[in-house]
Amino acid sequence: MKQNNLWQETSEEKVSFKALDDSIECDLAIVGGGYTGCSAALTAAENGLSVSLIDQQIGYGGSGRNVGLVNAGLWLAPEKVESILGHKEGTKLNETLARAPELVFKLINKNNIRCNLTSSGTLHCAHSQKGLKDIQNRHRQLTERGAKLKLLDKNETELLTGSPSFYGSLLNEKAGTINPLSYCLGLARVAQSKGAKIFESSLATKIEFENDSWITHTQQGLIKSKKLLIATNAYLQSIIGIPSSKYTPVYYFQAATKPLTEEAIQAILPKSHGCWDTATVMSSFRLDNHNRFIIGGIGNLGQNISKIHSNWAKRKAYSLYPSLKGIPFDYFWGGQISMTDDHIPKIYRIAKNAYSIFGYSGRGIGPGTLFGKSIAEALANETEDILPIRPSSKNNQKFGRVKGSFIELGAKINHLI
Ligand SMILES: Cc1cc2nc3c(=O)[nH]c(=O)nc-3n(C[C@H](O)[C@H](O)[C@H](O)COP(=O)(O)OP(=O)(O)OC[C@H]3O[C@@H](n4cnc5c(N)ncnc54)[C@H](O)[C@@H]3O)c2cc1C
Repeated sequence: MKQNNLWQETSEEKVSFKALDDSIECDLAIVGGGYTGCSAALTAAENGLSVSLIDQQIGYGGSGRNVGLVNAGLWLAPEKVESILGHKEGTKLNETLARAPELVFKLINKNNIRCNLTSSGTLHCAHSQKGLKDIQNRHRQLTERGAKLKLLDKNETELLTGSPSFYGSLLNEKAGTINPLSYCLGLARVAQSKGAKIFESSLATKIEFENDSWITHTQQGLIKSKKLLIATNAYLQSIIGIPSSKYTPVYYFQAATKPLTEEAIQAILPKSHGCWDTATVMSSFRLDNHNRFIIGGIGNLGQNISKIHSNWAKRKAYSLYPSLKGIPFDYFWGGQISMTDDHIPKIYRIAKNAYSIFGYSGRGIGPGTLFGKSIAEALANETEDILPIRPSSKNNQKFGRVKGSFIELGAKINHLI
């Protein structure tokens, strides 16, 4: 069995773009058509910049493969963010990212992006007593910072998840779920409608700086621009002339059933909340708009679907919901997360007016949309002050592949037991 991405089969947004086969000139060239690149293209066009974006395929990376949980903030609890970045900068990032789901929902609603948005909220589910302490602690920290979250006990969590497996959960009613690929394609469609030029089947192969301009070469064309954004996150296909972004690659995969009948679905996620748990080797679960059950976990499926991970997905689903026993999983697909050592995304300054953004560490729908918007505003107004974090000229994380292999080994061992 080969990988088969549910989002590709079910996306209601269907757009495609021609390849770049010419030499063109614009204010801003963007490499990478995920949320970061597409959101930047849209905002740059709205700010009066001429903009061109290239990718092999819009949504080819994490943006077309993820779980679709539109959550606020980062993986890290806010106190941790403030301790890493310092109080002032940490508070700025926390406050900005707390509003990220609102930005995503606004873009979807304003532009009629057909991505099956459910805005009933997401549940962070405590898988153990220790997990319960974790969400209680997060609840305290987030509430102190003005978030309106509900800490649910075991019974309340069982009512919303339909599973007795959890010790409690943290409900954020301002979060939601989407078809992640549709959202990305929708952003690209809207960016194009505002004047952005978007090209597929066009990988950047080499970038040079000549006579005050960036020259981005593709297989068949080139873009000359004053400003440059590299938005390739965990999917960078190497570009001569540009230093590779440094991160730890972490694999995450999902499995989905066919649409389930009301009888089969019974009490599973009656309000369609998107869920993830507190385990170190975490899991996620949700429904799509046709009542397909989708479960996810850390691990590299490989091209031919690793039995260790796929068997775990079935066992995990059946243990959460015994009524699913015997129902086959028809879709298996995976993606790569770019994890930074401190789990904070990076804005790397390549040179004046040239940046690379990466390292969302597994939470990039809201952050990617927001960082893309902010970098476009910063480039349009030639000021870094409006960015959610200070750009750095350092890109020196080490041993990413080795750390990634340890995480994969840990996931395999965990999924074998
Ligand atoms: C399996 C999985 C589950 C996840 N679940 C969630 C979730 O539920 N919620 C959440 O908020 N986040 C989640 N994330 C994280 C989120 O998907 C990413 O952070 C986000 O998609 C990053 O967006 P991006 O635009 O920066 O990068 P990407 O979407 O990865 O886009 C990068 C693009 O760059 C292109 N590219 C690379 N090299 C070149 C080149 N040389 N020339 C041209 N183009 C190039 C690639 O083809 C790719 O399309 C998940 C990630 C994965 C992998």
